[in-house]
Amino acid sequence: MENSRNASFMTRDRDRSIRIGVSACLIGERVRYDGGHKRTPLIADVLPRFLCLVPCCPEVGLGLGTPRNTLDLVEGTTGPRLVMTEHGKDYTQDMERWASAKVEELKRQGLCGFILKSKSPSCALADARVLDHEGRPAGFHPGLFTAVLRRAHSGLPLIDEVELRNPESLFIFLERVLDFALHSRPSLEAELWGETTRPGRGSTEP
Ligand code: SF4
Repeated sequence: MENSRNASFMTRDRDRSIRIGVSACLIGERVRYDGGHKRTPLIADVLPRFLCLVPCCPEVGLGLGTPRNTLDLVEGTTGPRLVMTEHGKDYTQDMERWASAKVEELKRQGLCGFILKSKSPSCALADARVLDHEGRPAGFHPGLFTAVLRRAHSGLPLIDEVELRNPESLFIFLERVLDFALHSRPSLEAELWGETTRPGRGSTEP
C-alpha cells in the first residue's frame, strides 16, 4: 500500500468518511460501572482527525445504567455466561440479543473496524477473565459483545486500546481498516483521492 494512502481517511463529506466503532469509555464518555471513563488521548483526540468514530457502550445499551453493579464472565456449559457479580442475574441472552441487533445496525452504517476496551466482560477482544463457579480465575475469553461482533461481522478489523499503543500494531490496524473500507465501498477511492489527484495513478498534479 502506498504511504500516501495514510494521509487522511476523511472524505469531503464527513458522513461518508471511514467509520469505526469504539468502546465509548475510551473516548471519555462516563459509561463505566463506577460512572467513570477510560479516556485514551490517541483515540479521543488523534484518530477523529481522520476517522469517524462511532461510540458504543454495550452495557449502557442493554439498559443497565451508570453507575451499575459490575458484571463477570462465569463458566457455563456452552460457553461463558455474563452475570452480575452481586446477585448472579444472568444477562447472557439479553446481551446476545442486543449485540446482534446493534451489530446489524453498525453494519448498515458501513462500519470498517472497531477499537475495543481490554479486559471488559462485554468489550474485551480476548482477555476478559472467566471465573469458575467458586469465583476462581478459570481462563480468558472475548467479551460477550465482541464475541457477537466477531461472529456476525467476520473479517472486520478489531484491536484493543492496549495493542493500539504499539505503533506497528496501530499502522497495521489502520491499513486493514482502509483495505476493508475500499473493498466494501468501491467509490471511496475516488472520494478520498479524486480521479486525477491520487499519487501513483499518472497524475500530473504536483
Ligand atoms: Fe461500556 Fe464496554 Fe466501556 Fe464497559 S468497556 S464501560 S461495556 S464501552
